[in-house]
Amino acid sequence: MRTVAEGYGLNIDRSGMCLCPFHAEKTSSTKVYPHNIYCFGCGASADVIGFTQRLFSLSEPIEAVKKLNDDYDLHFAVGQAPTSAEVSEYHKRIAERRAYVEWEKQAWRTLHDYLWLMREWRELVPKSPDDVQDRRFVYALHHLDYAEYLCDEFLHVGRSGKLAMGDTIRNIENIIRMKG
Ligand SMILES: [Zn+2]
Repeated sequence: MRTVAEGYGLNIDRSGMCLCPFHAEKTSSTKVYPHNIYCFGCGASADVIGFTQRLFSLSEPIEAVKKLNDDYDLHFAVGQAPTSAEVSEYHKRIAERRAYVEWEKQAWRTLHDYLWLMREWRELVPKSPDDVQDRRFVYALHHLDYAEYLCDEFLHVGRSGKLAMGDTIRNIENIIRMKG
């Protein structure tokens, strides 16, 4: 969405906001999301195709598709039926996308659980200096910062960065399962 919005002349600031192309305004109230835009001023809401159609006053979405195809050299055979290879490639990509979304959800849950477990264990402070230290407390002493770091990192890196944390997350899953 951002690529297209910028390509068609919108100035998007660092927080993803820009002036609404669909109503006159002096301060930015349109937010550019990865797959769509939304204007908090006039309520305009569109995906890439809808945005292009409206921006250029095109009568049909297919006109916008053709324009995007040309302007961005996408080389789609617009108007031709896809081959069976293209269709199965499409289904494969959708399935991969779903699997990734599922993995991401689970991975975040794991990191989040880990952080809370560390916070819990960090409270298992020995009651007196003579008490034997609970090994979970000792572990949390060394890993609470790390758990916070991992959560923070996961929220800030993109897809490939998240996937690169896969082994770490698998190990943490085991730690949680065995509760240390
Ligand atoms: Zn607007």
